[in-house]
Amino acid sequence: MTKHIEVEKLVRTHLRNLKPYSSARDEYYGKVGVFLDANENSIGSVVDGDFNRYPDPGQRDLKEELAKIKGLEPNQIFIGNGSDEAIDLLFRIFCEPNREHVMIMPPTYGMYKVAADINNVNTVPVPLTDDYQLDTEEVISSLRPGTKLVFICSPNNPTGNLMKQSSIEQILKHAPGLVVVDEAYIDFAPGQGLIPLLEAYQNLVILQTFSKAWGMANLRIGMAFAHPEIIEWFNKVKPPYNVNGISQELALAAAKKLDRKAEMETAILEQRAWLKSELSKLTTVEKIYPSHTNFLLAKFPNPNQLYNQLVEEGIIVRNRSKVTLCEGCLRITVGTKEENETLLEALKNLSNQ
Ligand SMILES: *Cc1c(COP(=O)(O)O)cnc(C)c1O
Repeated sequence: MTKHIEVEKLVRTHLRNLKPYSSARDEYYGKVGVFLDANENSIGSVVDGDFNRYPDPGQRDLKEELAKIKGLEPNQIFIGNGSDEAIDLLFRIFCEPNREHVMIMPPTYGMYKVAADINNVNTVPVPLTDDYQLDTEEVISSLRPGTKLVFICSPNNPTGNLMKQSSIEQILKHAPGLVVVDEAYIDFAPGQGLIPLLEAYQNLVILQTFSKAWGMANLRIGMAFAHPEIIEWFNKVKPPYNVNGISQELALAAAKKLDRKAEMETAILEQRAWLKSELSKLTTVEKIYPSHTNFLLAKFPNPNQLYNQLVEEGIIVRNRSKVTLCEGCLRITVGTKEENETLLEALKNLSNQ
């Protein structure tokens, strides 16, 4: 291991002796038996379907399947109620309110700062460079002993690009706390992401999600991959039944349909390429940034007006034009062929007005 850390020393002091809640399903987790231990309704559910039993708090079947797919051990995997739960838990486990801080690299995903604000933890922003890469030197020289978490989003939302692995590794080497790499969009990017680096860096936490390439945003399933000691802390602090059984079941079914996932990814990447080339033909489009995601960041001379006009046509994109370094930009999710045609048609008509 290139970098070894003492996880317990990073954990908030009041948690170090925490005695976690032990649920009925923690204490006995066989699947057959007469279950009279959890005060469930033994008759059944009011609505059609079997919803009367608590779900597996350890999500063991799903973790086992994901471990195979990701080349990890189940004890390196945390499953949350969306990635948002993993982000919130990182604050609750590792950051002392008011005293410690986290580093973020704007423009980036808004939840890191919101989660910091909710947990009363300061954020130190180190903006990306003009070409949307990490300002590695500035990041490293801004690290302090109280920098508990460094959030890196790669591919980044809303800019769409991957961060250089060499920069991330330098930051991993220097950071006094954990480095959290959010790979929500990694399935749309070339290469396999940073999971292989978990071997070398015990301070690396990787976030992924079922919300994007898997097409299951409604089910709220996020994943964190990290050293087993870190995952153990997630498990101690999370609510016992944090992922409902329906979501676990459907995620497990999805995990066994990798061919379908690959098909959808191919279709989305095709549409991304086509949409980009069509957009670039329009005079209203100033610039389209390279994307390793399922969205395009595009720059327009009149983004606010255009945004409103599109809304009037019933087409909703994300207005990012007030975000530093994204001035003039709209973020456009790659839709189906028909949706993309509708968007292009509307843009053509608007530019002819
Ligand atoms: C969409 C997205 C997520 C997904 O969050 P969930 O809570 O898992 O739906 C995470 N990170 C980034 C950067 C995203 O854009």
